Amino acid sequence: MSLTMKIMIAMLLGAVLGVLVNLFLPGDAFVQAYFVDGLFKVVGAIFVASLKMLVVPLVFVSLVGGVTGLGDVKKLGRIGVKALALYLMTTAIAIAIALSLAVLVSPGQGMKVDAGQAAFKAKEPPPLADVIINMVPSNPVQAMAQGEMLQVIVFALLFGVAITLAGERGRHVLNFFNDLDAVIMKMVDFVMELAPVGVFALIARTFATQGIDLVLPLAGYFLVVVGALLIHGLGTYTAVVRLLAGLNPLRFFSKMRPVMLFAFSTSSSSATIPVNLKTVEKRLGVDSSVASFTVPLGATINMDGTAIMQGVATVFIANVYAVHLTMGDYLSVILTATLASIGTAGVPGVGLIMLAMVLAQVGLPVEGIALIVGVDRLLDMMRTTVNVTGDAAVSCAIARSEGALDRAVFDSDGDEAPAAPGHQDTRK
Ligand code: ASP
Repeated sequence: MSLTMKIMIAMLLGAVLGVLVNLFLPGDAFVQAYFVDGLFKVVGAIFVASLKMLVVPLVFVSLVGGVTGLGDVKKLGRIGVKALALYLMTTAIAIAIALSLAVLVSPGQGMKVDAGQAAFKAKEPPPLADVIINMVPSNPVQAMAQGEMLQVIVFALLFGVAITLAGERGRHVLNFFNDLDAVIMKMVDFVMELAPVGVFALIARTFATQGIDLVLPLAGYFLVVVGALLIHGLGTYTAVVRLLAGLNPLRFFSKMRPVMLFAFSTSSSSATIPVNLKTVEKRLGVDSSVASFTVPLGATINMDGTAIMQGVATVFIANVYAVHLTMGDYLSVILTATLASIGTAGVPGVGLIMLAMVLAQVGLPVEGIALIVGVDRLLDMMRTTVNVTGDAAVSCAIARSEGALDRAVFDSDGDEAPAAPGHQDTRK
């Protein structure tokens, strides 16, 4: 049985068990203490921690190898510009879809605000200037220790460029990094083997603690977000994969299934980086010189699903508070939600915090966030799935334009494609 199949079955079993616990044993102290907050919590947390454990070493090592594999600094700049442009463009399209659908359906109209319910304390979003300054790490070790992904990326890029320019000595360092990359990829395999158990525990716990009763009053909002996620996930990415990457979208989605399942169950783009990077390189055929840069960058700044939630939430909250949004407001939502999604860290629930920035921009009460907190857990799982799929689709598009897409790997069948060429071995 393929790994994808195992994960899907585990997820299904977890969901069924979770729902049963939720329906029939909601207050059972034994089940809560030993399973929901015991076994499921421990196993799920260990699974997520072991994924996170690999993120910084893998991103750093593979990016150093990847940048050096480019062999040309100008090429790096070009890939960077393309990645930024495509990531921003897909996010803007995502919000435009979200806003259009939300305006069409108008969720939240006539809903009464319960004063007690609306008590959300917004955290201050960081000013944009700080976000930009913070991209350069003053201490790379600290950046790695704290998992500051943009800082790690910047340091790895500079390090890789320096290796390229350092001649013979640089090549020794590069060989070391390429070997290390292979070793860490093996560690990713270990964690992927754990996935069925980890996913089962995560999903069982989520469904055991998240009742459907929270969703019902917010069904309008919930369904509009899901609808926009589906339109963007299936429509926009199909177009990107087909038109820009020249690949078969069905095969793309089928090969992306394990990544999507990881994202769905962990709600974290960041924790999904190892699996996404491995899949994009080894199964979709994107050369690691492109993927090692675009995948971690995407996981950090490209959040189409998050932007969709923010767009729909803005319209929903405006409807609930009976605030009329002008065309200018909508444009400003597109702009701020794009920026907010860049600033959103790829960890669970942060999209909701960054929503405060969007609401403040159009003068909506930030307390409105309290209204949608109840369903955010489930929506987070779905939007994270869209977030990571977008990173992979854009990576394929960029790889094609750079001649770094190996169709033989993409077209090959099987759960695990034969090893892609990977980094050049410079020892020959
Ligand atoms: N959980 C999302 C992610 O990791 C971010 C968010 O929308 O909260 O991609």
